[in-house]
Amino acid sequence: MEVGNTTTVRVRFAPSPSGYLHVGGARTALFNWLFARRAGGRFILRIEDTDQQRSTGESVAAILEDLAWLGLDWDEGPGADGGHGPYFQSQRSEFYRRYAGLLGDAGLLYPCYCTPEELEARRAGTGGEGKFQGYDGRCRELTPADRVRLEAEGRTSALRLRVPTSGKTVVDDGIRGRVEFANEIMGDFVVVRADGSPTYNFAVVADDIEMGISHVIRGEDHLSNTPRQFLIYEALGRAKPFFAHIPLILGPDRTRLSKRHGATSVGQYREAGFVQEAVANYLSLLGWSYDDRRELFTVPELVQAFSLERVSRNPAVFDPGKLEWFNGHYLRELPLEILEERLDPLMKRRGLTIPAGPDGREWYHRVLNLLRPRVHNLEELAADSAYFFPAEVPLDPAGLEKVIRKEGVAARLTAARERLAGVEPFNQEEIEEAIRGLAAELNLKAGDLIHPLRMAVTGKTVSPGLFEVLALVGRELTLDRIDRAACVAG
Ligand code: GLU
Repeated sequence: MEVGNTTTVRVRFAPSPSGYLHVGGARTALFNWLFARRAGGRFILRIEDTDQQRSTGESVAAILEDLAWLGLDWDEGPGADGGHGPYFQSQRSEFYRRYAGLLGDAGLLYPCYCTPEELEARRAGTGGEGKFQGYDGRCRELTPADRVRLEAEGRTSALRLRVPTSGKTVVDDGIRGRVEFANEIMGDFVVVRADGSPTYNFAVVADDIEMGISHVIRGEDHLSNTPRQFLIYEALGRAKPFFAHIPLILGPDRTRLSKRHGATSVGQYREAGFVQEAVANYLSLLGWSYDDRRELFTVPELVQAFSLERVSRNPAVFDPGKLEWFNGHYLRELPLEILEERLDPLMKRRGLTIPAGPDGREWYHRVLNLLRPRVHNLEELAADSAYFFPAEVPLDPAGLEKVIRKEGVAARLTAARERLAGVEPFNQEEIEEAIRGLAAELNLKAGDLIHPLRMAVTGKTVSPGLFEVLALVGRELTLDRIDRAACVAG
């Protein structure tokens, strides 16, 4: 595709580092990344940190970490020089000065001495001039003498772009279609502030040109900025990239997604034990679909399947329950080696050590396979696996009352302990036979033994099939835990 003066696809994700990477930003990054990877193009990461008050190094670090975690590697950006740097707007002042110079030389900028308070009063119509939107053009035709006078008053000036006073700016958006904006309403807008800093619209255009961006894919909240950016491209006489505004993300109550809706940052999901496969897959469906049925896509499959043509105009609804479902799916599907790797820090944090050697590993894999169909996230998986290890297993208080402190339970546990001590080999089948046999001998239902044994060994009232659990916990730990529970049993 030939766009502007570039022949390859170059897209960018341009976060403002004033907080964490949230779901909306991550979705924008993902769509750009998928688009670049599908086209064999380049994905550029540009940090828009011109707002020095709100930008923090901590936020930059968090954004980079979360993007890397999602697997959205950038070809150019912080730590990856691609010849179009620097990739922090705060270090790009010379470009903004140069572009302002070009506009100034073409006679398309003029200094504006109006103070924010004066503008506010005039916009509200309190000075008797009548209300207006944008700018009323007061400084547009100042004479050199006027300027000298205003400067003598100690006023500083911002630079405004001369916007045509009539006509319209038409945005042909790849997703929204044709959108028209009346130039009159936009008015002459500021491109360089009185302190010399560029405004967002101006910096973005200068950067997108300098970085050879071919496609701008970003959230629909930026659509209202686009005509101003178009006017800057036109004033500079430069070709515009292709623009595609992706739909807003709403919460389940259909208001714009925000912190009120619970966890909305990628980091929160990562910390809660979500896997990147699930998060990336779920994010891909926020505004994009392949067809009416298929929803499960690995990242390589997304690269093959993704296209802007299938991005909807309608807002997407973020459903945390659905994300959890995706996470459960990937926890069941991930290769064990990968699952193991992801769990490693969580197991270490809990002091749970995988037994050494191939047998230990095989045992651990069996534990994981037993548990993973039942959990929603890595945290749950690590927590649930604890009772397979020689760890102190707390007895769930409700279960303790309901199951253990019942009359006759101590005797049943002791009988089961004796039987289990003699089971050989200590495997699922033999354990089952022994316990069911004992229940029959004692004239009990199997459950009368199974429920107290489950509580005793796992500390919980629910677990995977008890006989398999006991086989994996092993004889020694099983007997110890039965002894301990029998002491407090009724
Ligand atoms: N820095 C802007 C933001 O964080 C994005 C700018 C753009 O994509 O044009 O919303």
